[in-house]
Amino acid sequence: MFVEPRTEKGWVEVICGSMFSGKTEELIRRINRAKIANQKVRVFKPAIDIRYDQVDVVSHKESRIESIPVSSSKEILNHVGTAEVVGIDEAQFFDYELPEVCNKLAEKKVRVIIAGLDMDFKGLPFGPMPTLLAISEYVTKVHAICMNCGGIAGYTFKKVLNDQTVELGEKELYEARCRSCFNEGMALLKDQMRLNL
Ligand code: ZN
Repeated sequence: MFVEPRTEKGWVEVICGSMFSGKTEELIRRINRAKIANQKVRVFKPAIDIRYDQVDVVSHKESRIESIPVSSSKEILNHVGTAEVVGIDEAQFFDYELPEVCNKLAEKKVRVIIAGLDMDFKGLPFGPMPTLLAISEYVTKVHAICMNCGGIAGYTFKKVLNDQTVELGEKELYEARCRSCFNEGMALLKDQMRLNL
């Protein structure tokens, strides 16, 4: 469990993991604690993420928090106002300038909380996430449960064949899987692809 450090200085923290691992849930928990502490809070999400709600950040468990959709990471700087705590959800969908934006905020004594998928459905590092992990002071990796064997899951497995990295969907498209079930599934999909050629 992450416990907030007692300091006035800014920093960056990252919550990462696969789909269905509770990243947004954890982001919302931290934001709510900041609100209890009477801190000014702003939450951002990429304009591309319209899964549940146009404006709010909503977790799979349906907790929600008001958020501002932005189409580029630089736009965050225009809307940040006097916020002491900035939350950023679905960070993997942002452009590669997001780490620089987070650094700028932290240098202005803002606490930046980022939530995002660390890997895409191919098991590769996702967008600006590797850099965000590197520049952050605190990293929390949350785990899902493998929907194939019940083990601990760190991978997002895509059940449908095609090559789009950014595709929004839920349980009909994706599954959380452990390393070995992920590799098994990928091998099966590759075989199917070969048969379809
Ligand atoms: Zn498994």
